[in-house]
Amino acid sequence: MSTLKKLIAGLWENACYLLPDERRAQVFEGLRSQVGLTAEAIESAPREVLLPLATLGGMRPETRVFRWQEIARITNQQFAGDLEQILKWPYAKAKKALKLFPSVGDPGAEKILMFCGVAERLPLESNGLRVLTRIGYGRVHLKNYGAMYKSVQEAIAPELPHSAVALSKAHLLLREHGKTLCKDKTPACHECPVEDLCAFRNPAVRRIDVTERS
Ligand code: SF4
Repeated sequence: MSTLKKLIAGLWENACYLLPDERRAQVFEGLRSQVGLTAEAIESAPREVLLPLATLGGMRPETRVFRWQEIARITNQQFAGDLEQILKWPYAKAKKALKLFPSVGDPGAEKILMFCGVAERLPLESNGLRVLTRIGYGRVHLKNYGAMYKSVQEAIAPELPHSAVALSKAHLLLREHGKTLCKDKTPACHECPVEDLCAFRNPAVRRIDVTERS
């Protein structure tokens, strides 16, 4: 997949982020084959074509259609249809640009950039974040997701590789681990390869929290 296609895919995928992977792939493939993945194609696509595709994604298909067309409109109006230029910008500016799109926050913008080959840190989704907090990185903030996210990202940073490819692998591995073994309610710790190193299983393991020093 070209970088531009990855960038577009990231935005559209983000607009379906609550769907299971298989369903998301089905919706995305439908968009690709029936409409096309350019902003022009999606902005001008008839609602009768978009709505059945959005309905594949479950509840509130109208909202999804609105988001897809909003993404297309922003791409055309704010970026003259050229999203790829964002990838040449400084990291902070590129993140700010992606956050103009619906439902893209800091983690979403960092994830889209990382899969397009641009990364400065490890973006995490909920599974990866849970795994790392359990192992012992950062601070568990039950009422402040943003503070927890930041503390985990900062605590893991010194141990991370720098390349976007390696960070993408880490992101996907942590996500998979959280979905299969380190599940929210019933983690399968006895099957886990890092059980001996995990603070959740061994309270004596020292947590790494750099935010407590600031
Ligand atoms: S030992 Fe348990 S809590 Fe720790 S990472 Fe493995 S599955 Fe998760």
